[in-house]
Amino acid sequence: MSQLTIALTKGRILKETLPLFAAAGIEPLEDIFKSRKLTFETSSPDIRFLILRGTDVPTYVEFGAADVGVSGKDMLLEHGSSAFYEPLNLNISRCRLMTAGIVGQPLPAGRLKVATKYVNLAKRYYAQKGRQVDVIKLYGAMELAPMMDLADEIVDIVDTGNTLRANGLEARDEIAKISSRLIVNKASMKMKHQQIEALIDTMGAVVEENAAAV
Ligand code: AMP
Repeated sequence: MSQLTIALTKGRILKETLPLFAAAGIEPLEDIFKSRKLTFETSSPDIRFLILRGTDVPTYVEFGAADVGVSGKDMLLEHGSSAFYEPLNLNISRCRLMTAGIVGQPLPAGRLKVATKYVNLAKRYYAQKGRQVDVIKLYGAMELAPMMDLADEIVDIVDTGNTLRANGLEARDEIAKISSRLIVNKASMKMKHQQIEALIDTMGAVVEENAAAV
C-alpha cells in the first residue's frame, strides 16, 4: 500500500478532527498537542498526518503535497474549490460566515470599506449584491476595524457572536454556513483510489454515527 498523507488544520478544528479519525481507528502515535513536530505517524502504518495552518491546507492538497485534507469551508470558499474534490462534510467546527458592522450604524451610500481575511470571498459576495467595495486584507482582530474607522463592515466567522458583541458590533448578513470538509487531491483520487475510497467510507460512517448520537 502506498503512503497516504493527510493535512489537518491546527487549532480548534484539530480538536474536533482527531476524535473522528480516532473513531475510524486512525490515531497519531504521539500527542500532537504536546509536540512541536509538524508530521505524525499514525496507528495506520500507511497514513501520516501533517499539521498546518488552515489557509495552507487547500494549497497542500491542490498541489498533491498532501493527498487528503481537513479544511474549514471558509478556507475552501476563499481558496476556490475547483482545485480538489470535496467528498465529505465532516459536520464539525460549525459556524457562520457573516458580515458585521457597528451596532445601529447604517451603511454609507457609495463605496464600502470592508476589512477581512477572506479577500476573494468578500469581493465575490459584494459584487453579487452589486455593492462597490474596497476590500482591506487583515490577518486578525477584524473586529477592531469598524471602531477604528478602517472599515464600514467586516466579513468574519461568527459562532456564538460573543466576540462581535464584546466589540460593539452586530452580525448582519449570513454569507455561508461553515463546517469542516474532507478534501482530496484530484490525482491522488485516481492513483490511490482504493485507499481513499475506504477512508471516505469509514469517515462517512463515523460522521453519520455522530449525527445519530445528537
Ligand atoms: P464567537 O465569539 O463564538 O462568535 O467566535 C468568533 C471567533 O472565533 C471568530 O473570530 C473566529 O476567529 C473564531 N471561530 C469561531 N468558530 C470557528 C470555527 N468553526 N472555525 C474557525 N474559527 C472559528
